[in-house]
Amino acid sequence: MDSLIPTGFLSALTEVSARMAGSEGQGVGVISLYAQPDAALYRLPLEHLRRFERAMERQIRAQLRSHDSLFAVDGKEWLIVLPRVVSTAVLTLGMLRFERIFNENPLVVDGLDLPVRVVCGAAISPDHGQDGFHLLQSARIAGLVAGRSDCGSLLFEPSMERSAPNIAVLERDLRTAFSGGPELELWLQPKVHLYSAECRSAEALLRWRNSMGESVPPPVVIGLIDRLGLRHRFNRWLFQQAAQVLHQLRMEGLEIDVSINLSATDLYDAEVPELIGQALSTWNLEAGRLCLEITETSMMDETAGSNVSEVLQRLRQLGVALSIDDFGTGFSGMSRLKRLAVQEVKIDRSFVIDLLTSARDREIAASIIDLSHRLDIEVTAEGVEDANTAELLAGMGCDYIQGFLHAPALPLADFVAWVRAREGIGREPAQT
Ligand code: C2E
Ligand code: CA
Ligand code: CA
Repeated sequence: MDSLIPTGFLSALTEVSARMAGSEGQGVGVISLYAQPDAALYRLPLEHLRRFERAMERQIRAQLRSHDSLFAVDGKEWLIVLPRVVSTAVLTLGMLRFERIFNENPLVVDGLDLPVRVVCGAAISPDHGQDGFHLLQSARIAGLVAGRSDCGSLLFEPSMERSAPNIAVLERDLRTAFSGGPELELWLQPKVHLYSAECRSAEALLRWRNSMGESVPPPVVIGLIDRLGLRHRFNRWLFQQAAQVLHQLRMEGLEIDVSINLSATDLYDAEVPELIGQALSTWNLEAGRLCLEITETSMMDETAGSNVSEVLQRLRQLGVALSIDDFGTGFSGMSRLKRLAVQEVKIDRSFVIDLLTSARDREIAASIIDLSHRLDIEVTAEGVEDANTAELLAGMGCDYIQGFLHAPALPLADFVAWVRAREGIGREPAQT
């Protein structure tokens, strides 16, 4: 699963370099092309994903010279070895061509148009790496910097190593974190019941401090995890960690449910329900204590027979609660809400920010609340930062609010202290 370097890549690179030894003014180039498919892709059944990969490969191959070689990594990254590169301009132009081809034309798979954003990084030997491993690392660092700075492609520069942490270091950091290091944690943001003002549940949000002491935003961490092919490791860590948090809350005598965030791709992963089930039974927890937040768009492929429908069905059988995250952003959701069989809907922060001033946002929030209640679904508003908005939401019948008005995400111990301070709950020893 965690294959970072495809088989054959390093030997192809070594062979090419050996053949070219001594050829003046020529180098071996490596391009790392990373495809960020449109979210719609994740709504397609798995076989479409495979066809997407094959279509990507065909498109890339069409641009290559006969002596270039292509390697695929986990269906998201493509590595290209280019012998006899006379100058870095060849690599820059090559990357621009990939960018243009993919960014300007959607990829057509089974008659469907799939927009794809590609990010490329390139490096040339011997300047950017004496051996295959370092050359690849340089190309990937250039790609990471290109992705982060929102430009489509970049050639490696030594200064990038300072701004983009070395991939090997990031990978090592993450692997260490998965095996129990303190750097990767789940922090809890309280959700407050508007009517009783009690905190009955919390959202667990990912917090990561890398070995340089920098905190990395969760979407960046998730992106890195995917890029490094560490999704399975991460999920195992996430589910165990969430179960452990629930256990610790129980030991503190607090009856608080915990939500975690799933990514769109998790709904295509048949192992996910099993891993969640294992984590719950390891800690002897009631499944209903755990809630899975899934974005509206990723749930939309719940058509009969799709992988998504199977995974969701197994999650429901397991007894975990399901919540639709960022509701309102996809909007096709309103009519489908009933079929999704969820317990909660979260109104996206973008509708909450301007609630006091925007009649349109108030109307959207009110209709989400009204429809959800008719279907017996509870509603949480996200990103509530001030008391007036909270009051307005209470008036609209919203059930829970989450946001900086009450608290940001807090480390477990601080969260427990926050709950106690707020509700004056005396510590009750856990029953064993
Ligand atoms: P989200 O699921 O919509 O999470 C809510 C985000 O809004 C959190 O950002 C939270 O800190 C922030 N937030 C909460 N209240 C307020 C507020 O009053 N004002 C403002 N401005 N922001 C508020 P965070 O922690 O940076 O997470 C960002 C996103 O990263 C999350 O959005 C979620 O999509 C993703 N994420 C976080 N943890 C995980 C995880 O464990 N797995 C996955 N797949 N995604 C995660
Ligand atoms: Ca969420
Ligand atoms: Ca959200």
